[in-house]
Amino acid sequence: MNDDKTALPKAFAKRMRRLLGGEYDSFVASYEEERQYGLRRNPLKGSEEEFDRVIPFPLEKISWAREGYYYDAEFRPGRHVLHEAGAYYIQEPSAMAVAEVLEPKPGERILDLCAAPGGKSTQIAGKMQGRGLLVANEVIGDRARVLSQNVERMGIANCVVCSEKPERMSARFPLFFDRVLVDAPCSGEGMFRKDEAAGEEWSPEAVERCAERQAMILEEAAKMVRPGGVLVYSTCTFSPEENEGTVSAFLRAHEEYYIEETVLENLFSPGRGDWIDAPAAGIEHTLRLWPHLIRGEGHYVARLRKRGQTPVEMTERETQGLTTENGKLCKLIENFLREELGIRASWLAEHSGRIVRFGDQIHLVPEEMPSLEGVKVLRPGLHLLTEKKNRFEPAHALAGTLCGKDTAKSKALTEEEAAAYLRGESLRCGEERGWTALFYEGYPLGFGKASGGQMKNHYPKGLRISF
Ligand code: SAM
Repeated sequence: MNDDKTALPKAFAKRMRRLLGGEYDSFVASYEEERQYGLRRNPLKGSEEEFDRVIPFPLEKISWAREGYYYDAEFRPGRHVLHEAGAYYIQEPSAMAVAEVLEPKPGERILDLCAAPGGKSTQIAGKMQGRGLLVANEVIGDRARVLSQNVERMGIANCVVCSEKPERMSARFPLFFDRVLVDAPCSGEGMFRKDEAAGEEWSPEAVERCAERQAMILEEAAKMVRPGGVLVYSTCTFSPEENEGTVSAFLRAHEEYYIEETVLENLFSPGRGDWIDAPAAGIEHTLRLWPHLIRGEGHYVARLRKRGQTPVEMTERETQGLTTENGKLCKLIENFLREELGIRASWLAEHSGRIVRFGDQIHLVPEEMPSLEGVKVLRPGLHLLTEKKNRFEPAHALAGTLCGKDTAKSKALTEEEAAAYLRGESLRCGEERGWTALFYEGYPLGFGKASGGQMKNHYPKGLRISF
């Protein structure tokens, strides 16, 4: 089944040899090298200077991703207090190119249709700077839950997490988004080095099945892009059927779309029109990321533009602060945020939306969000509070959106205290009383409730972790 020397599936190796010709040897040699590890700074939780000051291990910048860095695996940044505090997201370096190509802007409406576990959604959210609406959708329920957790860990307030099939999303959001990303399920050939098991599921038939599924997903995604909007398609595979093939077949059926050049054109290799029949015009402006040519795994990215224009008055969107039909509830919530949590006007000014109650849970739903009827929603926006018999408790997700300057009731923890907090332990404290936002090196960890010299732990049980 496998190519003896490289442990690559034989049929895959044979096809790559045919496609790459003289370049094949260096392609295959890259499988003998160690993979590259990447993490991405979270710009929603602090500046680059603050990040540089607190990161305790060496990092090296990734040239194609504004917030991306290589790290050395021995430092295990996934097992660090700063990871739990959402200071960064661990992401394969090549995967970071996709959101750069999408070029999200603050204030836009953006859909990530195949979003779990959330690498690209969280990167997009960073570029939106908390303004506008991000809808992150993942069809598989368990994966959508992990996505939702990552959205919360990264302190993203303006993201709605759904778990729907693409056709149900397109029925609910026709022509709604400025940008749509399809990071498609694929045969994963570009990940054989990162994840050895990926090769075991590969077969030529799987490639065909993936191409069919990608065509279906793109078809639905296209219905949700507004005239003049952008549709980005990406995979982590090499097969021409799933890359240039899928894009070209889509464009044959959709004259209203065309391929656009990308901001990363000079850094990567061009799409290969010569590897398929009937390539679409401009296919050389799609991007191939090769593990033997760059420091990252295999990827493919295409950026398409929908012809036409949406009137400017429909794209200029203004924020309106906290709103709700129930004025009394809105007042109660604002009072709780200000008085019991010490949240300052600066946070309230930056977090606008509709206050919506789902049972005893109170969320801040992004202003742009239309009705979600008929859509399975895991997270309708920022989870603000839980209502408990005439009182409120702050939701853990709210803590993730706070910076030190946002609250008058905060406490800085030492590394030891932070680790104890993440394990679920109570902490000793001084004179503090009531709800307190806990920070480590300026990054938010969660809430505690202080009384009589003890800080009761409110870190959610399901997230508790020991290092
Ligand atoms: N964008 C993600 C990230 O950066 O973390 C990775 C997405 S992964 C490449 C593709 C996702 O598509 C998977 O989470 C998978 O569950 C989902 N998927 C599988 N079948 C699908 C389908 N028929 N329609 C939409 N999404 C599907």
